[in-house]
Amino acid sequence: MRIDVVSIFPAFFDALEVSLLGRARGSGILDIRVHDLREWTHDRHRTVDDTPYGGGAGMVMKPEPWGEALDAIAAEAARPPVFVFPSPAGEVFRQSTARELALEPHLVFGCGRYEGIDERVFEYAAERGTVRLVSLGDYVLNGGEVAAMAMIEAIGRLVPGVVGNPESLVEESHEDGLLEYPSYTKPSEWRGRAVPPVLLSGNHGAVAQWRRAQQLERTRSRRPDLLPPAERGE
Ligand code: SAM
Repeated sequence: MRIDVVSIFPAFFDALEVSLLGRARGSGILDIRVHDLREWTHDRHRTVDDTPYGGGAGMVMKPEPWGEALDAIAAEAARPPVFVFPSPAGEVFRQSTARELALEPHLVFGCGRYEGIDERVFEYAAERGTVRLVSLGDYVLNGGEVAAMAMIEAIGRLVPGVVGNPESLVEESHEDGLLEYPSYTKPSEWRGRAVPPVLLSGNHGAVAQWRRAQQLERTRSRRPDLLPPAERGE
């Protein structure tokens, strides 16, 4: 999978060099290229923002550098890419979104700053690929970089070969609509706290039943909104 990232703070993405994604980049499974939007400016101050039409506080990212950035990336693309613009006004990013995007051969993340990007950039991008405005959650960040990082990690780990044991991707929170059951490791007793005895029983059926019950209980108490209506008692 190829991932291009456009940002005025490329250093945010240095962390993509480490851990599983860093290894996947090294082995060529993930081809991640980070670009500085200011490379596509032509004035002495490398300006990427200007005052908003209609007035109001803050600055808006200018369309010209974005247009050049998208042109340059699209020109290298074998097929029209999916442009992902992190935005608090977008659809909420979920595990299902990560699964969908992990199937795409080419993603381009456009990281906004200030009050956001001139709206015409999204229309322009939509003529060159698919556009998705995606929110990390119902709160406002200073820029799209942290949101893009979170999305790249969630998507990247679903790309075959990135996580060594693909089975570890199956039993996770949000994969079957529920939160994951609690996990324990050795020692079986730690500071007066014992591991639930069923996990030491060697009875796989009983373990599976206990884990399922824990998933439902956790989801009911922490995230009742995730439960199907029948389980919520509606
Ligand atoms: N004025 C915008 C609004 O009210 O919708 C918020 C702009 S925010 C300060 C600057 C940039 O941060 C956005 O363009 C977006 O790229 C990013 N951002 C902020 N919150 C985000 C969130 N919850 N999810 C994804 N991106 C976010």
